[in-house]
Amino acid sequence: MNLLSEALDNYIDAHASEEDEVLKELSRETHVKVQMPQMLSGHVQGLFLQLLSQMIKPQRILEIGTYTGYSAICLAKGLPENGLLYTIDINEELTPMVERYIAKAQLSDKVKLLTGDARKLIPQLNEIFDLVFIDADKVNYTAYFDLVIDKVRPGGFIVADNVLWSGKVVEEKKDKDTQAIDAYNKKVLNDTRVKNVILPLRDGLNIAQKLL
Ligand code: SAH
Ligand code: CA
Repeated sequence: MNLLSEALDNYIDAHASEEDEVLKELSRETHVKVQMPQMLSGHVQGLFLQLLSQMIKPQRILEIGTYTGYSAICLAKGLPENGLLYTIDINEELTPMVERYIAKAQLSDKVKLLTGDARKLIPQLNEIFDLVFIDADKVNYTAYFDLVIDKVRPGGFIVADNVLWSGKVVEEKKDKDTQAIDAYNKKVLNDTRVKNVILPLRDGLNIAQKLL
């Protein structure tokens, strides 16, 4: 997953503000009890998402792919008093754990957990979003972009995670997920409604702003 040397990754980790206690505990419990803990955003990316959210000052956030709630908590920290974050996941088994940590982070009033297939649930959302975080199944990234673009306010952001896919996007022979991610990056690049850049943080973040 990591694109940098271990030494640089460790350096970055050691020079980022300390992870707060609730997130530390959530990360620990995820690593002990949940399958595929490497999917959790983690310390450095979590802080980046938190700071990004604080820069954007969003009223409404949509997250596609909750998993155990780490990134949801980070993003929700940038919400104002009446702000809301909707987060969608198809895996209902994780819901009780996510709810428990959202409560511990004192964000229950601001976070709405939606359980089901994001492709079905997004069209039912009657909101305009300032920030969308795409982090669910990679094969549907382009579909998610199409489903959210008209629900993003002009000037709002669509951020997609894992867009370098451990560096596999530049390999000649691409598996299904790699092809899907490459297609997403090309779609965003060629869509004149947005301006974008890929940040090589962790597994790569594609940051796109919908033009005014
Ligand atoms: N954003 C989390 C990690 C998400 S992992 C973090 O950074 O901590 C990806 C999640 O997407 C998994 O929990 C998986 O259940 C969910 N997912 C996969 N396909 C989905 C779909 N079609 N609709 C909604 N969620 C989906
Ligand atoms: Ca991810």
